[in-house]
Amino acid sequence: MNNNFLCPYCKGHLKVNEQIVFSTSTQNGKSGLTCLSPQIGNYAIVHHPSFEINKGELVSFYCPICHSNLTSNLTDRLVKVMMVNDSKEEFTVLFSGVLGEKCTYTLSQTQNEVMSYRVDSSNYVNFFGASPEY
Ligand SMILES: [Zn+2]
Repeated sequence: MNNNFLCPYCKGHLKVNEQIVFSTSTQNGKSGLTCLSPQIGNYAIVHHPSFEINKGELVSFYCPICHSNLTSNLTDRLVKVMMVNDSKEEFTVLFSGVLGEKCTYTLSQTQNEVMSYRVDSSNYVNFFGASPEY
């Protein structure tokens, strides 16, 4: 699988050399670049040691290209990006912006299908209730 990750606003490519790159900031005003794994369910996070994020801290994610805020409109605790797979199928990927919270959703744009991958996902299950709007 060679998934591409795109900004939902400018459609710019966020994946560079097997890392997804974001501009991020914490609630107490620190900011820096953060890289995540393009593997769904891999929560490895890479950032410069001078940019400290504490476990449990809510991090705001921005597109490093157009600087759009990538916070989901479902809840400010989820971050939204676009994923395009080898077959050019488009998905919306939602993941938790809270450091240490392992939660990712992949939503197929054709099937409105919610697939939750990991542990803390039950926290957000209610956001995908009877009448999905995505
Ligand atoms: Zn963008």
